[in-house]
Amino acid sequence: MNDIVKSIEIIREKIARAQAKSGRTERDVLLIGVTKKVDIERIRIAYDAGLRDFGENYVQEAKKKIESFNEKATWHMIGHIQTNKIKYIPKLFDYVHSVDRWEVVELLNRFEKKMKVLFEVNIAGEETKHGASPDELKKIIERIETLNFIEPVGLMTMAPFVEDPEEVRWVFKRTRELLEELNREFGLDMKELSMGMSNDFEVAIEEGATMVRIGTAIFGERI
Ligand SMILES: *Cc1c(COP(=O)(O)O)cnc(C)c1O
Repeated sequence: MNDIVKSIEIIREKIARAQAKSGRTERDVLLIGVTKKVDIERIRIAYDAGLRDFGENYVQEAKKKIESFNEKATWHMIGHIQTNKIKYIPKLFDYVHSVDRWEVVELLNRFEKKMKVLFEVNIAGEETKHGASPDELKKIIERIETLNFIEPVGLMTMAPFVEDPEEVRWVFKRTRELLEELNREFGLDMKELSMGMSNDFEVAIEEGATMVRIGTAIFGERI
């Protein structure tokens, strides 16, 4: 059980090192513990070790956990969004990282609760992954200011899984450049780059990640 505490400590050190290497000092990279398939008892261990941000993939699973977890934490929806589950999202989550189509933000807006939104972009064009292409994303962002309750705060990406994370460094770099392009083109001030998972977070931070989403390296293999 102590593994979780130790793992968080090790990850925090690695984050600090990667951040120092990237030369950024303004703001600490946010560590989000990804808790899909992780039970409340283990989430609590992470919470007691100081973790305050948690990411969930499935609305139904998240609902059970978030409603029974009484501590004050920030919950991030990071999984693919099904339109029939959207109604639960504003109540449960503070951030939504996985917006990849207009329909999702349009429906979210109807709940009249201010939501911080990140757009999921599929940079490598992998067919097996969700996420909008850069062109699709532009079409969504073009219209975003018509939605009063949607606050666009950044981009999220998932790099292809590879043994050597250096091979996907370009994905993170390209995502950062896209954020800058979108801010310029649409007069926005999005600051968040949610990128980097257990196997590639250090490279992602070096390329500008402001949020990393880490599951396995904290909680162990999911069964
Ligand atoms: C599961 C998941 C993660 C965490 O992945 P690990 O490799 O276990 O760190 C991060 N982001 C998303 C979108 C996920 O689905």
